[in-house]
Amino acid sequence: MRSDCQAVWEDCLQFIQGQVNEQSFKTWFKPIEPKKLENNTLTIQVPSQFFYEWLEEHYLSLLQQVIHRTLGPQGKLEYSIIVDQGNTQHKPFTIKLPLHPSSYVQQYQPNQSVAGHGFKNPFTLKNIGGAGQASYLNPNYTFDAFIEGSCNQLAKSAAQAIAKKPGGTSFNPFMIYGGVGLGKTHVVQALGNEIKTLLTKKFVLYVTSEQFTAQFIEALRNNSIQDFSHFYLQADLLIIDDVQFLSGKEKTQEIFFHIFNHLHQAGKQIVMTSDCPPRELKGLQDRLLSRFKWGLTADLQQPDFETRVAIIQSKMEKDGISMADELVQYVAHSVDTNIRELEGVLISLIAHASLNRAEINLELAKQVLKNIVQEIHTEVGMDYIQKTVAAHYNISLENLKSKSRKREFVTARQVAMFFAKKYTNHSLKSIGYYFGGRDHSTVIHALQAVNDMIDTEPHFKLSFEDLQRKIKFKVPL
Ligand code: ADP
Ligand code: MG
Repeated sequence: MRSDCQAVWEDCLQFIQGQVNEQSFKTWFKPIEPKKLENNTLTIQVPSQFFYEWLEEHYLSLLQQVIHRTLGPQGKLEYSIIVDQGNTQHKPFTIKLPLHPSSYVQQYQPNQSVAGHGFKNPFTLKNIGGAGQASYLNPNYTFDAFIEGSCNQLAKSAAQAIAKKPGGTSFNPFMIYGGVGLGKTHVVQALGNEIKTLLTKKFVLYVTSEQFTAQFIEALRNNSIQDFSHFYLQADLLIIDDVQFLSGKEKTQEIFFHIFNHLHQAGKQIVMTSDCPPRELKGLQDRLLSRFKWGLTADLQQPDFETRVAIIQSKMEKDGISMADELVQYVAHSVDTNIRELEGVLISLIAHASLNRAEINLELAKQVLKNIVQEIHTEVGMDYIQKTVAAHYNISLENLKSKSRKREFVTARQVAMFFAKKYTNHSLKSIGYYFGGRDHSTVIHALQAVNDMIDTEPHFKLSFEDLQRKIKFKVPL
């Protein structure tokens, strides 16, 4: 009987070899072992569930054809799948109802573990780098070091919830998206680090999608796709960073799709980052995108002023450097693009200060930031002041320049005149001209009124100072 089934499978292989390329043949058909032939049903043993799924997805019709040829129209095919020792599901069950003429029945064979034993770790394959901790996480990326603000609240708290119960929340998969330097890598690695600390037995794996792609290509070249996939299937938490780089890489997406499905079905946690929301990811297969939307998607936004201040303070504190509040605010105002850039500025500040043995003061900061911040004198013009003040008071430019005596317009108008005097070279007469053709005495009156209000109205003073900061540092509208 046994030789029968072997002979039949040999026949099958011969036919298959003529139909697929050598690489695929070696990867997907050579490892298959024929097990038995009974009642016109050929049972073949495959190394894993993953392997079975791959065959089913890519070679279904070829297998149907070959069974039809060798066993006739009544011929059937059954899979026997080797599963991990930890898996307690022993009973055979049908995965998919057969398309005539083959039958696809999966049988689990416990205690013949393959997964988790003796597979090459793709991170150690040549040219891929990443030696060090098995999880490939940077231990400095922690939740503690991640400053919370309204820009990142959802992402951080979801990540913290997942860290307590990976795979056990409805946030699976969890996808964080946002522009460059806004903290995606930091949050997902903090999540990984936290799980490693709280749940030491869990196998956490962090990989960038570029590394993943390089490893996959290497595995194809070395004929070690099985090692590659099995390695990833062991993860309890798989973090894949910057999935946008999978764009257009069809084969890598396919294997990722299978790994994704497999882990997800097994209740393992998947975490991903991307530079844009899933719906805008170009060059990704729809079936992959639709899975990204199963769980939770959270975005990271540009940090607001207060968060930037807190981040600067925390980073300087960590380095044991003190910085005057005014300076912290200056830097926070000047660098509003992203946090990586903010860090870069702080590092150059510290470097300049220590190289020149100078203290970090406003002069030094201005020098360092020369290329980033536009110079105030040349940039703050009448137009900018008028627009910024109008926006601050939430009134229209027309009303700001009008003759209306409504209190709210009058105050805004006086404040705008005050800043025009302070930050531009316009004469009193010229300023009057820009505010609906008033004369210079009206402008003088405005300057006095503003000074009075600063002295007597605390509320006004606060709002005025806030506005002054915006104008002084030329915060974009
Ligand atoms: P992304 O992956 O989105 O490009 P990163 O996670 O690499 O961004 O973040 C860039 C830098 O900014 C990192 O050094 C990170 O530690 C820091 N960073 C980002 N967000 C925060 C935050 N909320 N608090 C403290 N540091 C942050
Ligand atoms: Mg990143």
